[in-house]
Amino acid sequence: MSQTDEANVEAVDAVVIGAGVVGLAVARALALAGREVMLLEAADAFGTGTSARNSEVIHAGIYYPAGSLKARLCVQGKEQLYAYCAERGVAHQRCGKLIVATSAAQVDELRAIQQRAAANGVNDLRLISADEARALEPALACHAALLSPSTGIVDSHGLMLSLLGDMENAGGMLAVNSKVNRLVAQAAPAPAAIDVIVDAEGAQATVLRARTVVNAAGLHAPALAAATHGLDARHVPTAYFAKGNYFTLSGRAPFSRLIYPVPEPGGLGVHLTLDLGGQAKFGPDVQWVDSPDAPDAYLVDPRRGDGFYAEVRRYWPALPDGALQAGYAGIRPKISGPGQPAADFVIQGPAEHGITGLVNLFGIESPGLTSCLAIGDWVARIATDIQS
Ligand SMILES: Cc1cc2nc3c(=O)[nH]c(=O)nc-3n(C[C@H](O)[C@H](O)[C@H](O)COP(=O)(O)OP(=O)(O)OC[C@H]3O[C@@H](n4cnc5c(N)ncnc54)[C@H](O)[C@@H]3O)c2cc1C
Repeated sequence: MSQTDEANVEAVDAVVIGAGVVGLAVARALALAGREVMLLEAADAFGTGTSARNSEVIHAGIYYPAGSLKARLCVQGKEQLYAYCAERGVAHQRCGKLIVATSAAQVDELRAIQQRAAANGVNDLRLISADEARALEPALACHAALLSPSTGIVDSHGLMLSLLGDMENAGGMLAVNSKVNRLVAQAAPAPAAIDVIVDAEGAQATVLRARTVVNAAGLHAPALAAATHGLDARHVPTAYFAKGNYFTLSGRAPFSRLIYPVPEPGGLGVHLTLDLGGQAKFGPDVQWVDSPDAPDAYLVDPRRGDGFYAEVRRYWPALPDGALQAGYAGIRPKISGPGQPAADFVIQGPAEHGITGLVNLFGIESPGLTSCLAIGDWVARIATDIQS
């Protein structure tokens, strides 16, 4: 259906769909640029999706192919995020990370990672010996390690609260319990606009007619794009979902830096991250699932912990039996499937799909949290071009 009931249409300048950390950063950037912004969120609060279910790591920008959006937006976003957190008092810590070679053969992989990082402009990685690594982290077992001093951790909820405050101070509005059902690109009346049809649970649907619409619906962004009248199906990627399970450590961790093995296909390997209270968690692993909406989508099967012990003991042999407890899980919004090469972030504007005013964000998995401010600026630029 491409027609909407004209009597029921409200005009808005810009609509952002999805109030995760990326949608919030985009809405903030648009509001600061002087746009009238409405941020629509299906859930009853902001930031309850993937943005609440991740490692909260500020990534340095090490692993991504040179020139990719992931590399560029991560490296730029990291600097913006540290500056923003310092300015706004958002809790964070530049704790550093060690990527460890757990076999002699992996030392060459560390060198390759160091080169790749340098190609991304991350020149502060230092290859250190096992002895140097143990001097930093006495509980660590490794053949060598790469020290990344610019990796850190951030309070993601505090960050989102601050982004929301900025957006609201600049006149933007958040509407929760507002699930967008579909979008309809209107060629007329001129100038071109997009109708955003919002679910109203039994009541008549609300229709917002906007000049700019940003689809930042995370795991559901491809489904929403598929429900966009006027968008050619070839611009909608297939969605894949890779669940990541975490196990928490009972007791205090004997580490003060994040500890990562050499990456594995689909993820970064079972690594140790710390929260701002110094509590350690291990994960996320990679478990491909069919849907992010299944009732058990976020349940962690305690039996998966059995596999964690062997992985972790490769770099922390003293991990005690029974120390790991099922924690939480997040789901990566993938646009490449099992066995396929990792896809880049996709930020698709009118130049790609031909619909004036529409920006779709696909595959915003890690390092999406680190990159959020840079993504916000990027999208705001596209949206400004759309306007002019
Ligand atoms: C296991 C895991 C670990 C990660 N670790 C890190 C890390 O350490 N560092 C890092 O930089 N990145 C990390 N990431 C990536 C990071 O968490 C994401 O890139 C980021 O949170 C994505 O934010 P988002 O706003 O795009 O998505 P989300 O947070 O999922 O927000 C999307 C929002 O859209 C809403 N929505 C969906 N459909 C609709 C609709 N039709 N109408 C209205 N609203 C809708 C949802 O309810 C949701 O609130 C990790 C991801 C995972 C899964």
